[in-house]
Amino acid sequence: MVPPAITGTGSEIFRAGEAVQIKGLYRVIHYAHRLPHETAILALKKFPHCNQCGDRVRFELVRSVGELLKDYNFQPDETGPPANGDLLTD
Ligand SMILES: [Zn+2]
Repeated sequence: MVPPAITGTGSEIFRAGEAVQIKGLYRVIHYAHRLPHETAILALKKFPHCNQCGDRVRFELVRSVGELLKDYNFQPDETGPPANGDLLTD
């Protein structure tokens, strides 16, 4: 399996239970019970299952944390400890 490229083009689709390799903003696509919505996945190690559609939920990368920081010239928040010390990896 080819590892997903960190391009932030929004073309990467992930499933519940897969390892989160790119922290960032994701579009959550449910199975038949809810319209797509967006959520930030920053601290989770795996994509969560939905309590209604279970592992049929899909996660599409909208924008990686690195991109968000670049876009807005945000500086990393050094007042709080990162979850695993790897929040901002190049
Ligand atoms: Zn769902």
